[in-house]
Amino acid sequence: MVTDKTILDQVKENIPVDEEESLVLNRDSSVGLVIVDVVNGFCTVGSGNMAPTKPNEQISKMVDESAKLAREFCHRKWPVFAFLDSHHPDIPEFPYPPHCIIGTDESNLVPALQWIESENCVTLRRKDCVNGFVGSMEKDGSNVFVDWVKEKQIKVIVVVGICTDICVFDFVGTALAARNHGVLPPLEDVVVYSHGCATFDLPLHVAKDIKGAQAHPQELMHHVGLYMAKGRGAKVVSEISFDP
Ligand SMILES: [Zn+2]
Repeated sequence: MVTDKTILDQVKENIPVDEEESLVLNRDSSVGLVIVDVVNGFCTVGSGNMAPTKPNEQISKMVDESAKLAREFCHRKWPVFAFLDSHHPDIPEFPYPPHCIIGTDESNLVPALQWIESENCVTLRRKDCVNGFVGSMEKDGSNVFVDWVKEKQIKVIVVVGICTDICVFDFVGTALAARNHGVLPPLEDVVVYSHGCATFDLPLHVAKDIKGAQAHPQELMHHVGLYMAKGRGAKVVSEISFDP
């Protein structure tokens, strides 16, 4: 443990994230909330191959904060876009073990967020790949996420969900690239809320006994995910408040 802590401290010292303190939102913010994969298969203990095997503080906090933000947004009738990782049983997603199979509870929102399904301000998108931007593409070349930004005239997105360094980061990086490429108007800013994000925990001493598994220490990879998002141009904030 002492060694782990030292490594984490060293990483944080050498690649600091320097979170911006607080994001204050008001009715002129033109903001949308993007919730990435807060489904049972990634968040609920014992819910399949990629779910936590025991209660996990970072994941629980992420679920609480996502649900809290969703309440605030829906209360104000501000737009919310939720990705749900969902796979056809016959189409595996390399390199991951089977997870979030359509029709199972793994691919459904966690209990704390299920209520958003019946909210008018919420758009749900099932996706079968890590990258939500890619998973929003339709066969005709249109993109459900791009259309949502345009239709709701969203200038700022606040992103929460799991995993910080995988699905959240891939989506954020691609959204920023799309914005810079001029195909995501009128989007200006992508904000990652650090306490609203989490990643999974697979420490080295566990991973080394699993064939083909990569070690994935939770705190460290969460930090790296935030660092990478910031490096791509996202704003990383540790607090979000609402201006009445
Ligand atoms: Zn998946």
